[in-house]
Amino acid sequence: MPDPKRTALVSGGNRGIGLEVCRQLAALGHRVLLGAREPARGEAAAASLRARGLDVTSVALDVANPDSVARLAVARPEVDILVNNAGVYLDEGRRPLELDEAVLRDTLEVNLLGAFRLCRAFVPGMAARGWGRVASVSSGMGQLADMGGGSLAYRLSKTALNALTRVLAQEVDGRHVKVNAACPGWVRTDMGGAHAPRPVEQGAETVVWLATLPEDGPTGGLFRDKRPIPW
Ligand code: NAP
Repeated sequence: MPDPKRTALVSGGNRGIGLEVCRQLAALGHRVLLGAREPARGEAAAASLRARGLDVTSVALDVANPDSVARLAVARPEVDILVNNAGVYLDEGRRPLELDEAVLRDTLEVNLLGAFRLCRAFVPGMAARGWGRVASVSSGMGQLADMGGGSLAYRLSKTALNALTRVLAQEVDGRHVKVNAACPGWVRTDMGGAHAPRPVEQGAETVVWLATLPEDGPTGGLFRDKRPIPW
């Protein structure tokens, strides 16, 4: 049992990396709110973790819907740990100049604006209470230092998520709220596909580490395998 027990919210917690982050955080003794845009899928996922003795509650959360985020912020204002995990990869294999504007918009709506909405809803409470952790699931595909071709919408969304991480970390500096981003590596999920080398346990590890950092831990960084990597 950690001291003290915190309340963690994980977006897109019903499958993939998000579900495993829920499991690991709850296994550490935290109270987990498993966010899912489809309540029945969220409840099934939460029930599977409760069956293992873990403290996990499903909550309705569509990060692309501002009203959904606002409703959750009113119902559960006590979030200490926010994991921005919900993500879409809509332009896999698409050429940048053939990218449909609607696909770019839909990608940013979830991967960037979704994270921004959740930060705006929950970080002020963390700062007011004097403790908080934000861990956003980014990607090596958003690293400017190593920017490849293709998948423009996804890359832009993750580069922007990295910028949000740095700006927000400075905004709450000195308030005992740490804001970081993680690249989970290439992980075997619906998004990563069956040939990805990493299991979800490994993909979630750095995210959970950032979500539970001690007071002397880093803020405003991008990490893979618990080590800083270039932006
Ligand atoms: P996944 O298996 O496709 O799961 C994505 C999750 O996001 C699902 O729970 C999905 O919910 C949820 N989601 C999508 N749109 C949402 C919305 N509007 N509101 C709330 N939830 C929403 O993907 P994953 O591989 O676990 O990816 C998790 C995160 O890791 C993403 O941010 C992704 O970009 C990042 N990432 C993954 C990899 C990889 O190799 N897998 C690599 C780098 C980064 P539904 O079930 O309702 O669709």
